[in-house]
Amino acid sequence: MAVREILLLGNEDLYSISSEISPEQIEKAKRISIDLHDTMLDFKEKYRFGRAIAAPQIGEFWRIIYMNWANHPYVLVNPRLQFGEEQFEVWDDCMSFPGLEVKLKRYKKTTISYKDLEWNECALEFENDLSELIQHEYDHLDGILAVQKALDSKSFRINRLKAGCY
Ligand SMILES: [Zn+2]
Repeated sequence: MAVREILLLGNEDLYSISSEISPEQIEKAKRISIDLHDTMLDFKEKYRFGRAIAAPQIGEFWRIIYMNWANHPYVLVNPRLQFGEEQFEVWDDCMSFPGLEVKLKRYKKTTISYKDLEWNECALEFENDLSELIQHEYDHLDGILAVQKALDSKSFRINRLKAGCY
């Protein structure tokens, strides 16, 4: 168990494409998910936001997303996303650039299929802000950051609270 360093915007490694976990690597996935949990909790204490984190953000280039939703932790291994048709505009944030918000478009509805840590096939459906969140985390697995999806060059703003300025 460890709080890991979160890679920050500008670190080229954030653009890496992460690899799938094989069933033989599930113990590694468990260790990474514990570090993701610890790291997110530590971040949340400092910055007061953060509901999900992707493994590449702590330098583990594996297709794992950790999220905490309604006080329940979820570990999503090898996730696959399906979208509805409708999109919406939203201000997105990221633990890799705390304080910077980016306006972009996301799909309103998402279905995510994944393996859990027992290698069961699972699926969750999300709408609105949670749909946005899961698309954001999924993008990290493909080395895509929210800043790359900004609607235009003015779609950026600083949120003082999320930057840790209280
Ligand atoms: Zn992020």
